[in-house]
Amino acid sequence: MKDLKMPEKRNEKVKEKDQENNQKREEKDKKNKLTTNLMPVIFIGHGSPMNAIENTGFTEGWREIAKRISKYTTLPKLILCISAHWESEGTKVTAMETPKTIHDFYGFPKELYNMEYPANGSPKLAKEIIARIKRVEVTPDYDWGLDHGTWSVLHVMYPNADIPVMQLSINEDLPPEAHFALGEELNQFRREEVLIIGSGNIVHNLMRLSPGGNAQKWATEFNEFARKNIKAKNYKALIEYQKEPTAKLANPTSEHYIPLLYTLGATKYEDAIFFNEKIDYGTLSMRCVVWGLKN
Ligand code: ZN
Repeated sequence: MKDLKMPEKRNEKVKEKDQENNQKREEKDKKNKLTTNLMPVIFIGHGSPMNAIENTGFTEGWREIAKRISKYTTLPKLILCISAHWESEGTKVTAMETPKTIHDFYGFPKELYNMEYPANGSPKLAKEIIARIKRVEVTPDYDWGLDHGTWSVLHVMYPNADIPVMQLSINEDLPPEAHFALGEELNQFRREEVLIIGSGNIVHNLMRLSPGGNAQKWATEFNEFARKNIKAKNYKALIEYQKEPTAKLANPTSEHYIPLLYTLGATKYEDAIFFNEKIDYGTLSMRCVVWGLKN
């Protein structure tokens, strides 16, 4: 009995030591990630759904930023997207296991309607987000899915669709400052490897599109107002964007601008990096912004 017990005890000790070492390693890894690799936040100017199938200069920028992020930190555990194309009564979060691909546009080529983005959802993380957002009530949604504001961009950024994706809706009754405040609450999830993406357009006027035409003066002016204030971290001016004389022409409706407010809220006032700084069709700002990524 004695002989048998001795090696067992030794084994136990070795086991304990191993566990201790593993734990230390894990803690160290975790600490490194928390201090150096906080998940960035992105605002994407998504423009036409055709960007999903055409290899435009804009898609190059989207692909490149995903690559840079994957070099900078781990692959996101979850992508949480606030898309211009999901406005709702109340704030909702998609909570289904497998969100459907929504083809929410008209008059485009069949190829675009045949596209699927088969990423999973995450009912478990949806529950957690619902529990941890305090300023407004968030309810689970089982009807929506992934609209083109989300999948046309992710199809380019993460073509394997192997990262779970959820959408947070735009509550149509909230004022701009409340969208920003909700973004501030999303900030906490960056520590848990959640990639927050706002998908809209800083300037978006479909009534005045001029294919092949130069950018409208007011579009350039508003686009510049946004760039300057994002760079200067003057978020108050961006929340109060309706005071700008060109605001009504740049955004006759607010849904494409609002995703920017979520991403601003989710930053920690890090420096912004801009890309795809062009105005498409004369009135669509394709400007994208990433925060939390070091040059
Ligand atoms: Zn859109």
